[in-house]
Formats: sequence, structure tokens, C-alpha cells
Amino acid sequence: MDIRKLLKSILQQYGHDVVYVEKDRRFRCSCYSERSGESADPNCPKCFGTSFYVTFRKVKVRRVISSVPETLIGVNKLTEEGNVTLKAYVYYMEYDAYPKEGDLILEVDWKNGIPVNIKEKLFISVVEPKLGDQGRVEFYQVYCRYTPKGANDDDALSTH
Ligand SMILES: [Zn+2]
Repeated sequence: MDIRKLLKSILQQYGHDVVYVEKDRRFRCSCYSERSGESADPNCPKCFGTSFYVTFRKVKVRRVISSVPETLIGVNKLTEEGNVTLKAYVYYMEYDAYPKEGDLILEVDWKNGIPVNIKEKLFISVVEPKLGDQGRVEFYQVYCRYTPKGANDDDALSTH
């Protein structure tokens, strides 16, 4: 059985499109240098608060609520809010989506194939490549948590 094909057909039937925000880890956003090395500006109108130059693309995903306690998948250590239990999601992505920890997923409203409004902003905590018998990546299981939407995130979306 070809798991890649299977996931593709599942996504075609049950999936939906999200905006995948990839940090270009080589280049800092201008908001970072302006603040001379301080932490990122959460309301930056360009980088979604990541402090890096970002690119984005449309990715088809299937998401489910995570049944795995966050403590078991190392999400908590990344949570700045302390003990607050945040709702976590698992996203399934195809082998060619190349998700990375620290990137963002935006759940958006689409209009004519263009993302127009951010409904939810999610931070990728853990990426688990699922390998087949031959050792190749068949798909990705991606653990995410909510992160607050910045005041200018919708602007950032429209400028890309
Ligand atoms: Zn920025």
C-alpha cells in the first residue's frame, strides 16, 4: 500500500487549505534589528512576530485535536504561559510539505484562492516524520498550539 497516495486521497476528501508560514532562518526581519537584538515584536506587520523573514505557501492539511498530553510531546517546555493548558492540534501533511518546528500555520478564510483573514494562528511545536518500510518519509504528523494573533497579522498576510 502506498501511504503517500492514501494520505493524498484523504486530504482531497477531508482536508482543507491553510497558510504555511516558513521562517527563513538566515534572515532576520527588520523589526528585530530595530530593537537591537531584543525579542521579536509580536505586532510586527511583516513577520507575524517570528522575527525572521518569512515566506508562505498554501498547504493542504487534515487536523484533529491532539489526544496526546502536551507534556509527553515536549510542547510544554516551549510554552511561555506557564501552567495554562492550551488546546493542541495535530496536523497531517504530505511528505513534500516539509514542516519545521517553530514555523506557523494560519487557519484563514479563503476568497478566490487568496487568504483574506486569519482565524487562528498556530505555532508548530513538534514535527514527527512518519517513515515507511523503506525509510522514506510517508507523511508528517505535526503538533501545534495556539498562539495569540498579532495586531498586524492580517496586514502581514496581505502584503505577501
Ligand atoms: Zn518583524
